[in-house]
Amino acid sequence: MVISLINNKGGVGKTTTAVNLSAALASNGNTVLLVDLDSQGSASLSLGVPRGDLSPSIADALFDDVNIQDLIRDTSVRNLKLITGDFRLANADLALADVEGRERLLRDVLQAVRDSFDYVVLDCPPSLSLLPINALTAADTFIVPVSPQYLALEGLVNLFSAVDRVRENIGGCAELLGIVITLADYRVRVTQEIVEIVRGHYGKDVFETEIRGNVRLAEAPSFGQTVFQYDGASAGAEAYYRLAVEVATRSRRTI
Ligand code: ADP
Ligand code: MG
Repeated sequence: MVISLINNKGGVGKTTTAVNLSAALASNGNTVLLVDLDSQGSASLSLGVPRGDLSPSIADALFDDVNIQDLIRDTSVRNLKLITGDFRLANADLALADVEGRERLLRDVLQAVRDSFDYVVLDCPPSLSLLPINALTAADTFIVPVSPQYLALEGLVNLFSAVDRVRENIGGCAELLGIVITLADYRVRVTQEIVEIVRGHYGKDVFETEIRGNVRLAEAPSFGQTVFQYDGASAGAEAYYRLAVEVATRSRRTI
């Protein structure tokens, strides 16, 4: 099962979800590969990779035909492997402009390893340019993290119509696994209202689990740790564990 984290908006919890969902799935005995498609390498840094050690990365497989097997790294989390991202990914649209089938490169590259893992999780940059499009064509399903702020619903509507255009123009596009509400802060008065609007509009497509704002989730990356390593008893850890159970159920696997 290949799952992509998609939202063209930044700061909505894609990377936090990619890292901690992957760790939660791995903690239940699933083999998981996290692929960092962001040129910032945030998911890789969150898992403790030093900034100077981000290369070689998925960029080498996409741009230079390096064998993907050679890019898979161990992490400090049992059952969780990682392919890093690095700054060269920022150039993907230009670097691949003339490449035939450039929307499906990641799909082809992952072919050799996808069956070796229970889950492959793709962390995307905040855009709907070539790399997230590659993630959509490579993945079976996608998860949309959304933080309940002003215009959140409008953002979602636009995102889904953009995904529909990818589906029509390129084909072989991932299906929605679910929308996850992240960074919810119920001390802010509009939060409840926006969450109700999103839930009212998307119904069962919204995961029951909500990821509330949690200091531990924000702190863990600077220690190169998942929230489970940093503070396994925190509300953030508990929330991502529950989300992983829902993801596994929706993926029709037992966790
Ligand atoms: P994205 O990948 O969508 O840009 P991130 O996962 O990097 O978003 O999150 C943006 C920022 O918010 C990061 O600094 C992250 O540590 C913080 N963050 C994400 N989720 C939470 C949360 N539930 N509670 C507190 N901080 C969070
Ligand atoms: Mg990110």
